[in-house]
Amino acid sequence: MMFCAVAGVLPDIDFAWGGHNRQTHSLGAAILAGLVVLAWKRQPGLAVAVALSWGTHVLFDWLGSDDTPPLGVMALWPLNSNFYFADAHIFEAISRRYWLDNFYTHNGWAVLKELLILGPVAAVVTAFRSRARRRSRHPGTT
Ligand SMILES: [Zn+2]
Repeated sequence: MMFCAVAGVLPDIDFAWGGHNRQTHSLGAAILAGLVVLAWKRQPGLAVAVALSWGTHVLFDWLGSDDTPPLGVMALWPLNSNFYFADAHIFEAISRRYWLDNFYTHNGWAVLKELLILGPVAAVVTAFRSRARRRSRHPGTT
C-alpha cells in the first residue's frame, strides 16, 4: 500500500528540476518503477501494482487541466517525446500562484472535485479488498 501511494505521487518529483510533465509522466517511467520494485522486492504483484499506481498519475494528469505549454504529458516516452493532452478537464489544475485572490477557493474546489470523483472508486476497492481478506481468513463464508 505504501509503495503504491509513493508511486502515485512520485511522478511530480520533476518539479524539483523544472521539467514538469515530461519523462516522469510517462508509461515508460511507470514500467521502470515496476521493474525497480520487482528487482528490489521480488514480488511481481507489488511491481504491477506500483506500475499501475504510477500509470494512474499519468492518466489523471492527461485528463486534467493544464494551462502551461507544452500542454499535457509525455505519456509515451521513450517511444516518442510528444505531449498528450485529453482536453477533457475532468480534474482541475492545482494553482501554485498563492498571491491570487482565488488561490484557496480554486484549490479547495479542485481537491473536493477529486474526492467526489475518486472517493467512491477508492471506497469500492477498499470494500472488495476487505471482503477478500475476510474470505481468505474464513474460507467458506460469503
Ligand atoms: Zn503530475
